[in-house]
Amino acid sequence: MSFTLAIVGRPNVGKSTLFNRLVGKKLALVDDQPGVTRDLREGEGRIADLRFTVIDSAGLEEATDDSLQGRMRRLTERAVEMADVCLFMIDARAGLLPADEVFADILRKKNANVILAANKAEGKAADATILEAYALGLGEPIRLSAEHGEGLLDLYNALTPIA
Ligand code: GDP
Ligand code: MG
Repeated sequence: MSFTLAIVGRPNVGKSTLFNRLVGKKLALVDDQPGVTRDLREGEGRIADLRFTVIDSAGLEEATDDSLQGRMRRLTERAVEMADVCLFMIDARAGLLPADEVFADILRKKNANVILAANKAEGKAADATILEAYALGLGEPIRLSAEHGEGLLDLYNALTPIA
């Protein structure tokens, strides 16, 4: 049986970078610049023998006013509803920010099946955030480096029971 994985989390944590790595094509737009308009993107993801549908929940990357935040929330909710499991991504370098709580809230309210992932976890700088992340109450975070392709074995192991 195949399943659908939605990658959710605040802007700039590395969702599209992971999406591109899982899909193996540059389908999602990765951009350092804030303010780029995006939508939900869907592709065929793959880690070794695991095949699944992957959704990159993006929306508006610079959610500064209320309407943009609302739109982002709706897009995330839609992605969660489409998915069997959500990869909730935080940025291990930036640490936990208030915006991360907004996404954690959506996932709790939707009763989503969540895999917590701390991205940009290459190197020791990530350790403090990994510890903080336990406080989200969403289980043990997986250490990922979407850019360097690290942590995919742990992601594979987390996804295997769902497949
Ligand atoms: P999104 O807004 O969540 O989709 O984030 P992007 O995928 O667009 O990435 C935002 C920025 O983080 C880009 O500059 C990426 O190159 C960078 N990035 C993504 N993954 C990693 C990672 O594993 N390590 C580091 N150091 N940077 C990363
Ligand atoms: Mg993105």
